[in-house]
Amino acid sequence: MRILSGMRPTGYLHLGHLCVLENWLELQKEHECFFFVADWHALTTEYENPRSIKEYTYAMVADWLAVGLDPEKSVIFVQSQVPAHAELHLIFSMFTPLSWLERVPTYKDQVRKLKALGKDITTYGFLGYPLLQAADILIYLAEGVPVGEDQLPHIELCREIARRFNYLYAPIFPEPQGILAEVKLVPGIDGQKMSKSYRNVIPLTASTEELAELVNRMVTDPARIHKHDPGHPEVCTVFQYHRIYQPERAKDIETACRRGEIGCVACKKDLAAVLDRRLAPIREKRAEILARPDYLREVLEEGKEKARAVANATLARVREALNL
Ligand code: SF4
Repeated sequence: MRILSGMRPTGYLHLGHLCVLENWLELQKEHECFFFVADWHALTTEYENPRSIKEYTYAMVADWLAVGLDPEKSVIFVQSQVPAHAELHLIFSMFTPLSWLERVPTYKDQVRKLKALGKDITTYGFLGYPLLQAADILIYLAEGVPVGEDQLPHIELCREIARRFNYLYAPIFPEPQGILAEVKLVPGIDGQKMSKSYRNVIPLTASTEELAELVNRMVTDPARIHKHDPGHPEVCTVFQYHRIYQPERAKDIETACRRGEIGCVACKKDLAAVLDRRLAPIREKRAEILARPDYLREVLEEGKEKARAVANATLARVREALNL
């Protein structure tokens, strides 16, 4: 199956992204994958401050490679380097009813959320975001797109666009499926959703010392004052992390916590060490990659060429179907 997925370069990656990347690694083993840096999508919310997008793009690709994405197996590229996405988006915009975009559930929700953070995204570009996504997917004739449940309406829209195009002009596009991945939801250090807007993330680049510091700030059971007080791991963020990163020991930790046999300081130290063991090889690999900036550029250059070849072939068929 041909798979497509991307990430927006709006900041440095964190542990939440690592779960997504672990899923990509699994897909890479079995399928033909296209992974792209969605820099045009980043512009939809960062249009006032586009300067950092390039820096985040390189940092993101370095992380992808450090985690194990393999440019020999997968096509890794930057969206804005393949102009065919934009042309297909434009063509799709000609026949997409406005109501299809307005009814996408994430639209109003995101506008409201970002307004609360002082960002106005009541723009033409943001409304068209799911349509650009449809172009990103369909330009590669991708059949599978790994998504979270909240993104399923975007895939449904993409399928509708494919059907409408196929009906109006020529049967070119497959109807892609959303692949619901079992991505673990890692909470932020305050127990809320991990997000850079909430300043509660654990960056993938965190050093041993930074990890210890961040874990130290995690919210635990507020009712537990003394080391031997019985704890309630179900309300403790540290325990949620233990369950994700060392499930084999979670039961013992839970029992020890409930019986007041383990103190929060020791429990946090244990977690910081576990996270450090997980991130240390990624740190090392990233340092090697960043020491060879030419390598990063080569990967993206090669990815661009491979992506363009496929995208331009689809676009040629589209133009022919429209007699352009
Ligand atoms: Fe949380 Fe561990 Fe403290 Fe229990 S002992 S409240 S699991 S940090």
